[in-house]
Amino acid sequence: MIRLRPGALLAARFTARSAARSAALAAALVAAFAAPASLADSKAPAAPTEPRPPSPGASHETRVGHWEYEGEFGPTKWNEVDPAFKGCALGKRQSPINIETRDAEKGGLKPIQFSYNAGPAEITNNGHTIQINLPSSGTARFDGLEYRLVQFHFHTPSEEKIDSMAQHMVAHLVHRAGDTKLAVVAVMFKLGKENKALKPIFDSLPQREGQTAKLNEFNPADILPGDPTYFAYTGSLTTPPCTEDVKWHVMQTPMVISYAQLSAFKKLYKMNARPVQPLNGRRVQMYLQQ
Ligand SMILES: [Zn+2]
Repeated sequence: MIRLRPGALLAARFTARSAARSAALAAALVAAFAAPASLADSKAPAAPTEPRPPSPGASHETRVGHWEYEGEFGPTKWNEVDPAFKGCALGKRQSPINIETRDAEKGGLKPIQFSYNAGPAEITNNGHTIQINLPSSGTARFDGLEYRLVQFHFHTPSEEKIDSMAQHMVAHLVHRAGDTKLAVVAVMFKLGKENKALKPIFDSLPQREGQTAKLNEFNPADILPGDPTYFAYTGSLTTPPCTEDVKWHVMQTPMVISYAQLSAFKKLYKMNARPVQPLNGRRVQMYLQQ
């Protein structure tokens, strides 16, 4: 808990913060660049479910970098909880965004070439979402450049909107090329029949932060829509440190999940979506099948 108070506590707070600062910064950079497998991850502890009392002293250190989706550690405060998160407030090319179909530039994009395959998967509850790490599930080619799929994770409701409409859930499939290039594919989900491909995941959601479950085989191709239409723009990570230069690809056609599946996720994470961010004149392109 970081509660700014004048006087003696303030000194204690900064001592604790500076001790943790370099570690938090390193963790953030690792999450953003070195290991996108933990893109939605954080080194911060779980969000307590009960109100936290003011806690002077040692516990300050563990709260540096702690962020949530609502309240005093919510999205408008992310830049305040860690110096490494400044970009969340100062960045001009942030994600998610609302996509206006009417305004998107048509033409000039190639279809995404997905080369996904079945492979082992590790389901993890990282304290902010459920993330599925994929060590060998193939690649995707965006604009001629091949990226390796490393993980996907969920947000509810969908973070991105199309024509001001969100869906109940979105999966972000995170890809990496080289050390720093990141590309994400967003697949939205509306309510309907049970999603068979996601059944093994939703049947074994790790209930507590830090817990994991293994799947011998999962094929991420099974959660992609058949319609290749997508929107492309350049944005950021939607979680701290909100690093920019992420290539976003938002599939236009939603897939389907059941109410029971959505509820199973919402029992763990009732709401884990960052609000849409200003477009600031960015170009949004649209790929339409010829
Ligand atoms: Zn995400």
